[in-house]
Amino acid sequence: MFKNFRTVPNIVFGKGSFHHLDYLLDSQRTYIDSWAAFLVDDVFVSTDLERWIPFHAKDMLIWVNVDNEPKTTYVDQLTLEVHKHSRNLPCAVVGIGGGSTMDIAKAVSLMLTNPGNSHDYQGWDLIKNHAVYHIGIPTLSGTGAEVSRTTVLTGPERKLGINSDYTVFDQIVLDPDLIKDAPALQRFYTGMDCYIHCIESLQGTYINTFSRTYGEKALELCRDVFLHDEPDSEDKLMMASYFGGMSIAYSQVGACHALSYGLSYVLGTRHGIGCCIAFDCLEEFYPEGVQEFREMMKQNYIELPRNVTENISESMLDRMVTVALGLDPLWENCLGKNWKEIMTPEKARSLFLRM
Ligand code: NAD
Ligand code: ZN
Repeated sequence: MFKNFRTVPNIVFGKGSFHHLDYLLDSQRTYIDSWAAFLVDDVFVSTDLERWIPFHAKDMLIWVNVDNEPKTTYVDQLTLEVHKHSRNLPCAVVGIGGGSTMDIAKAVSLMLTNPGNSHDYQGWDLIKNHAVYHIGIPTLSGTGAEVSRTTVLTGPERKLGINSDYTVFDQIVLDPDLIKDAPALQRFYTGMDCYIHCIESLQGTYINTFSRTYGEKALELCRDVFLHDEPDSEDKLMMASYFGGMSIAYSQVGACHALSYGLSYVLGTRHGIGCCIAFDCLEEFYPEGVQEFREMMKQNYIELPRNVTENISESMLDRMVTVALGLDPLWENCLGKNWKEIMTPEKARSLFLRM
């Protein structure tokens, strides 16, 4: 498997590192009219974080709403707003929030310099021009969006990332203080996204030493956080997310992510919780992983929603199966080249009906 992928070139890590953001932006404010665009999850309105944003007079602050996962139409609307702010492009786009907000910031930074609509670029390496310099600052850990070369968007036809080397953040700030007040349930679901990335990567047929190295360490960190409640759990969860993201960068996710995309496309189920619901039905494919996941749920007092597919129509179920089975590389990674003999539409259907 030949891959030549870009990684984040600059990283700041540590509690309180958010307070270096002004210094980091200084090097981008190179001309008199330089201005930065801050895209911040609106959950932080009127919080300390709002007060800490190093806002300069010409800067722009957009409160981003992620009640729904990002859509291409929302990205296009935000890009237009940023364009309207000034005749010049911003010197930096800063995304502060969970995976959804970071993905929105990545997408806006790309769309400021690439013509057309964001749905034109859903796919692989369709972006032609460098993005505006962009910084990612996670306030939830698990998705690996801070390190990945994609921004996952729901478009008119499909949920698919804008995958490109230009998508990768130029700078990330990993400040564990920013994730420490996340609601326990959300922290768990997003954290499990990372755990599942590790299991799917490590047990997949695409596994290699690069991915194993990152995946094993990330798995160990997830266990420290969700089974042993060790000190410094926020630091560990942040690094688990980063390492989990690096692990799948050179391998792939698997059955759980494929099925969760079906759930998300048809029912709008969010990524983290959707992965948990799907993973809980996959003991046949990931026996030890699912057992350990259930132990993590128990220790963290998590009750998964049940019967989410109970009242759906036949056509919705068909659509779920089609979306899930359309993700060939994920199934090939999980089950090998002959995956279609194992994961038939009937089998996928029966898995959805158990969720
Ligand atoms: P999220 O960003 O969707 O946020 C979930 C909820 O938590 C939102 O209501 C948000 O407002 C809130 N929130 C965020 N930070 C908070 C904090 N510190 N305190 C309180 N509330 C907070 O959640 P997520 O799980 O981080 O991200 C999921 C998204 O990431 C999905 O859109 C998914 O498609 C995407 N994703 C992207 C990649 C990638 O590589 N680009 C990988 C996996 C998932
Ligand atoms: Zn994921």
